[in-house]
Amino acid sequence: AQESSWIDVTGNGVGYNLSHFTYPEHYSEDITDVIIPNGLIIDRVEKLARTIIEQYDGRLVICCVLKGGHQFFADLVSFLKKFTNKDGKHLPFSLDFIRLQSYCNDESTGEVKISMTEKELRDLEGKDVLLVEDIIDTGKSMVTLLDCLKRYNLKSVKVASLLLKDTPRSNGFVPDYVGFLIPDKFIVGYCLDYNDVFRDLDHICTISEIGKKKYAK
Ligand code: 5GP
Repeated sequence: AQESSWIDVTGNGVGYNLSHFTYPEHYSEDITDVIIPNGLIIDRVEKLARTIIEQYDGRLVICCVLKGGHQFFADLVSFLKKFTNKDGKHLPFSLDFIRLQSYCNDESTGEVKISMTEKELRDLEGKDVLLVEDIIDTGKSMVTLLDCLKRYNLKSVKVASLLLKDTPRSNGFVPDYVGFLIPDKFIVGYCLDYNDVFRDLDHICTISEIGKKKYAK
């Protein structure tokens, strides 16, 4: 991806005031501001789907990286089902799922667990695969996954991530498709969780210190 291929919402690290939006009242103390309102997320996902559909011909395997990636994946896939490319053709695709885990509380554990069986990985051989992830922070999870996939002779592999964090901890990995560049904060909402909480929040928000304490493991 090139610099211009995402929306930069890093700002000065502060988002929109919560009072301008509706959100589940049980989170009123747990989030500080809205970084990306749900409507903007959906508009951006629509455009990413338009870009993706023009860049593939033939069958694509769209692989959801669970659990955080699932809302982005669901919205992206529903746009891809509706759209046709400039020749008026729909993109044929199948769906796959992979689970990656590296976080406890808001800290990366440094260890990345990939759960996909050997058979599932071998089934990807010779295929065009698009990995759909919620967020790239240090880049470690995605680089680990891509290294693992190298052994299985995929025809091609690309990465779509809704969010890319602007952080000095980055290993330099930049996905092929990026929705937004976000500030170096721990964010929740649109299925991004904190210990499995906040999956019922539609806007992407910054978690508060109270929220971090309340839901810490
Ligand atoms: P990375 O390996 O790039 O450092 O981290 C990728 C994974 O960490 C993501 O798939 C996501 O699960 C988690 N992660 C990183 N930053 C955040 C964040 O700000 N909020 C949430 N909820 N998860 C994050």
